[in-house]
Amino acid sequence: MANREIEPQDLQKLLESLGAMTDATPGVTRLAYGPAWCDGHRLLATTARDLGLAATSDPAGNLYFHAPDVRPHAGRDALMIGSHLDSVVHGGAYDGAYGAVSGLLVAASLAGKTSLPVVGFATCEEDEVRFGNRMMGARSMLGLAESSELESVHDGAGISWGDALKDAEALGCATPRVTGAHVVTPLFTPKRMLELHIEQGPVLEAAHESIGIVDRIAGFRRLRVRVTGEARHAGTTPAAARHDALAAAAEMVLAAEALAKDSDEASRVTAGNVRVDPGNYNVVPGACELWLEVRHVMPSSLDALADEMDKRCRAVGNRRGVRVLIDRPSEQPPTTLSSELADQAAALARRLKIAHRRMTSGAGHDAMVFAQQGVPTLMIFVPSRGGISHAPEEFTSPEALWDGFKFTRDLAAQLAGDAA
Ligand SMILES: [Zn+2]
Repeated sequence: MANREIEPQDLQKLLESLGAMTDATPGVTRLAYGPAWCDGHRLLATTARDLGLAATSDPAGNLYFHAPDVRPHAGRDALMIGSHLDSVVHGGAYDGAYGAVSGLLVAASLAGKTSLPVVGFATCEEDEVRFGNRMMGARSMLGLAESSELESVHDGAGISWGDALKDAEALGCATPRVTGAHVVTPLFTPKRMLELHIEQGPVLEAAHESIGIVDRIAGFRRLRVRVTGEARHAGTTPAAARHDALAAAAEMVLAAEALAKDSDEASRVTAGNVRVDPGNYNVVPGACELWLEVRHVMPSSLDALADEMDKRCRAVGNRRGVRVLIDRPSEQPPTTLSSELADQAAALARRLKIAHRRMTSGAGHDAMVFAQQGVPTLMIFVPSRGGISHAPEEFTSPEALWDGFKFTRDLAAQLAGDAA
């Protein structure tokens, strides 16, 4: 049992301390297994122990907060609550950190008080910044990350995941790996999963609502468009004789913007990058690579968006006489979270007279991995000022953070008590 009541200043102080742990300014840059990340890892472990919990890490560097008598072993059932410890480059102090800190404090509040043990956690990498490896923290926790990834996945400096983990292990932020097909043998079996997170969008703030009950997470499809025209002298080739790959790509960027406007409110279409070849003042561009992404919460709408984007790009190519090749390098299906847990959360919010709404998330989260494995999973959002996230300006008021924490703690107590 926690050795004292959890107070608002516990949450605020931890978030402030974690927010100061950054590898670069402005904002927070806490990349998996880096110096600031390891500082954060140690801070959370020390805080958990001060509150009477055990803090256990796994061979991927995920960290778990649990009552000392709830010993981790495969098959140990738990309600798991947490989020990620890593951040984007020059991100904010709340994305991930709020959910990880809250998971710790909820576990401390409820230790020994529920029939299903409540285990807090912080995942090693969710934002896919250092390794670009999809949700590798959550996938490791659930025993889904394969050992071959330790050698095949590298960061921008060429350091393998396995070597980065050896460094983290030397600093006490990961445990030694036992050989086997997977990076981690799960320490707990999640019977339910909760993730508390800032909204990262403007909906709750604009509606003056305290709680978002998230029952669906958008999926994405990515289109890599290769446009081939003709590289020609910029001074001697008249407009009518040009097959300009960049001008075609520019039209595709505008087509992406138009597609979002033509589609329903849940649609997102983004042109994120363009690479030009040869890329010089005096050459009509001969080739371009354009990166497009569509997102939607409904699978059929996501397919339709991707197909329509594909069609519009090819139409631009035909009209301009440039060759268009499109492949789809990656995708993520939309994820449905637990409607049963969402109903229970909504009932609790009504009972507590908390202004709330059911909503979807346009951003991906650790919770997706749990839900995709059939674990009843729910996310709770709190308002973000101005809807800003992944930026140093990210902010949620201490009052709103505490309200979200209390609500999620009460929900966890209810869900863990029910599951005897
Ligand atoms: Zn996040």
